[in-house]
Amino acid sequence: MSHKNTPSLRELEHHHAFLERHIGPNDAEIEQMLHVIGHGSLEAMTDAIVPGKIKSPAPLALPQAITEVEALAKIRTIADKNQVFRSFIGQGYYGTLTPNVILRNILENPAWYTAYTPYQAEISQGRMEALINFQTMCADLTGMEIANASLLDEGTAAAEAMTLAKRSCKSKSNVFFVSNGVHPQTLEVVKTRAEALDIELHIGDDADGATVDSFGVLLQYPNTFGQINDYKALADAAHARGALVAVATDLLALTLIASPGEWGADIVVGNSQRFGVPFGNGGPHAAFMACRDAYKRSMPGRLIGVSLDAEGKPAYRLTLQTREQHIRREKATSNICTAQVLLAVMASMYAVYHGPEGLTRIARRTHRLAAILAASLRQAGHTIGPDFFDTLHVVNVDADALIAKAQAIGINLRQIHGQSVSISLDETTTRADVIGLATLMDACIDDIDELDAATADALPNGLRRQSEFLTHPVFNTHHSEHELLRYMRALADKDLAMDRTMIPLGSCTMKLNATAEMIPVTWPEFGNIHPLAPVAQTQGYKELIEGLEAMLVECTGYDAVSLQPNSGAQGEYAGLLAIRAYHRSRNEGHRDICLIPESAHGTNPASAQMCGMTVVVTKCDANGNVDVEDIRRAAEKYSDRLAALMITYPSTHGVFEEDIVAICEIVHEHGGQVYTDGANMNALVGVAKPGKWGSDVSHLNLHKTFCIPHGGGGPGVGPCAVKSHLAPFLPRTLGGEGSVGMVSAASYGSASILPISWMYITMMGSQGLRKATQVALLNANYIAKRLAPHYETLYTGRNGLVAHECILDLRPLKDATGIGAEDVAKRLIDFGFHAPTLSFPVAGTLMVEPTESESLHELDRFIDAMIQIRDEIRAVEEGTLDREDNPLKNAPHTATMVAGSEWTHAYPRELAAFPLPSLKLQKYWSPVARVDNVYGDKNIMCACIPIDAYKEEAEV
Ligand SMILES: *Cc1c(COP(=O)(O)O)cnc(C)c1O
Repeated sequence: MSHKNTPSLRELEHHHAFLERHIGPNDAEIEQMLHVIGHGSLEAMTDAIVPGKIKSPAPLALPQAITEVEALAKIRTIADKNQVFRSFIGQGYYGTLTPNVILRNILENPAWYTAYTPYQAEISQGRMEALINFQTMCADLTGMEIANASLLDEGTAAAEAMTLAKRSCKSKSNVFFVSNGVHPQTLEVVKTRAEALDIELHIGDDADGATVDSFGVLLQYPNTFGQINDYKALADAAHARGALVAVATDLLALTLIASPGEWGADIVVGNSQRFGVPFGNGGPHAAFMACRDAYKRSMPGRLIGVSLDAEGKPAYRLTLQTREQHIRREKATSNICTAQVLLAVMASMYAVYHGPEGLTRIARRTHRLAAILAASLRQAGHTIGPDFFDTLHVVNVDADALIAKAQAIGINLRQIHGQSVSISLDETTTRADVIGLATLMDACIDDIDELDAATADALPNGLRRQSEFLTHPVFNTHHSEHELLRYMRALADKDLAMDRTMIPLGSCTMKLNATAEMIPVTWPEFGNIHPLAPVAQTQGYKELIEGLEAMLVECTGYDAVSLQPNSGAQGEYAGLLAIRAYHRSRNEGHRDICLIPESAHGTNPASAQMCGMTVVVTKCDANGNVDVEDIRRAAEKYSDRLAALMITYPSTHGVFEEDIVAICEIVHEHGGQVYTDGANMNALVGVAKPGKWGSDVSHLNLHKTFCIPHGGGGPGVGPCAVKSHLAPFLPRTLGGEGSVGMVSAASYGSASILPISWMYITMMGSQGLRKATQVALLNANYIAKRLAPHYETLYTGRNGLVAHECILDLRPLKDATGIGAEDVAKRLIDFGFHAPTLSFPVAGTLMVEPTESESLHELDRFIDAMIQIRDEIRAVEEGTLDREDNPLKNAPHTATMVAGSEWTHAYPRELAAFPLPSLKLQKYWSPVARVDNVYGDKNIMCACIPIDAYKEEAEV
């Protein structure tokens, strides 16, 4: 019997393809949408949008797509090539027990990992509460007045501390003192930054820190060898000469030893990794910075603060928004945009779960084990440094032999040099581990409890912690698993993430983060690898990293890629450092001008600034294109000083500039290098390659184009991709070769999330990636076309089409009605939507980027909401709705507003809450009304809200 009337095996299997799940619209819907925009096929549409000059002649040379099941099996074999040893390496990374309730309900929960940076305060209250817990935790433990909501890693945090000290100190010195007790990777990152900014480093013994004339000092407490030193006199001496004191520290140790704030630190940085975040071969983890209140306005990174909402209730928001890079631009003090929010949330929940007593218990147990091990080693004749928390510095040993002996039984120690090793214990250390370590070193523990009773603490007497910390109720309430589970759920429920709605943020590419991509991230073979584990144990990572680098080389047309940068902005920094080093290598080190079009993202000028370059802003024309003549003029004017042009392609205005090839030629003619900001690669993959049209270097945002989730504002990976002439100037790895230093503390940055992008590319294959790009273009054009009768699209390219995003211009409506882009953004919340990008790159506009993974259904839902909002604006225009008291100005509407016994507004409650009938079936209620930005900036308050504030609220 034949089955010719039923589908063939091949046809049936086609629907296994991951592509079918990743891309929102199906083929029939694609047809329908193409019809709306007036093109016969995706190919015809692509030809109409993308300039022929830059189009790739051949498909991407990537392996055929494979299914989710096959890809997971393949990456399993790669993971299995990593060997998970017991790590006692320390050096800033320690074993930790991620509470399973946090693992599953934060790290593996799309309600948390698919959220965006909390620019839209009202729909981000949950994650901002978690972040303010993080800030409170860091400020309390370090003894400082204020802390930020995470930085990228301890190394970059230390580099930021150096520049903060430079900006804020009274000293006129250009020298920064760094103690040689600082972790080596921190020193590396600080060196790179100092070199670019012409800051002179003095690296030396702590004693020099008191005497060397410097604008700041960087100390480590406890230091990299585990020793706890009393720095009070040094801090006093530094202050006396007008210098600031920066300290890198360990949050867990601070539960037992005096906080740096108590002995005179001005800035305190560190890594919160050991609060429940796995090693991950170096990242991602949340670093922190805490400082005196006096420096809060120059602090880098995000600061969550408390303000009031329109109903007078406390509400969180990003404080000091004016510090945002796209406003400060070339005056920016740092380029931190993406930080480490998801990991900061995890660390904060770890503190909420354990509370001050639990944390102290963990620290005390770790210290006891260390003290016991030290006692037994000393009994066996070993020499160990005094005053430690968790790390023993063992000297006068044959380090090579000892390390080899340890590895033979699955243990990693840290080699300091030929005659010394260190052993760091942590929360995961067991009695058996300590007995095993003792045996390894020819010591013997007969009865560990007996030895415990006979062994004193090794904490210096004058530095025992006396002050309280984490006294706020949030750290003293949710200690049972049920309580924590419900607390985390309650916070997640306040927020809108991609598990509930599209997030149409222009330039941010909020696309699907598929579950199959996420699964390998939490495998121990990726998670439990210390970044300094010997390469023989990390062959799986090597294969993953090299494989992904090759894939990205193919996607971009460049020749080499570094995965070290932890964010897009760090990728920019690495790329510009490569350009700088390249010019220097050709004796053209005087080239210091960086041309940047006015439409650029704020991180571009900030990164240029960090490389000591001078920014010259060039114009855009009325169509949103960069003004080629202005670039030519500037390139001619600064011909002998031109270092680089930074350009985003397709532009931040959402158009494919026709002249990009000519622009690259102009810059090259004048001796400059072309930096293409690759944040918009989602409009290019499989269609065109910047490395082939004349660009020299790009960063990619794996957390945009290549499916790493945004995590509420991080993690991210910002690979730096370069042509071959710049390849020697990519950042080196720790202990590796190369003339440019490290930009991140770990050699491969946020290595443990690289499986996400690897899985995406592997499951999509060459054709899938190209189709994704085409559907991203289609989705944006479909929205622009359907909204055209209602809103003006600001810029279009050839044939009246946009690229992968479109800018809706609200300015004409604002002039006519007083209703602006912000009102539309807030009104969308009443419809259950996250707003598009507000007022970037053009003030008064909304930039919409739907991405390929939004279905036609979701696009139409968004379009319906936008049309209904347009009708409301029209009603204001026509006078049927009041100019001031209308649902747009009062948005978002909370349940308490709508259900209160009084309703005083000039429009019906039903319109407030249910502007479309579908909302009666499913409704997101904003937890707060519109948040007052001005109040928040005038009354800066960046720690947990005293519980009384809520009490008063409940009594009203
Ligand atoms: C997102 C973005 C960046 C910065 O990336 P981060 O990862 O947030 O540092 C730079 N340029 C453009 C155009 C972007 O959209």
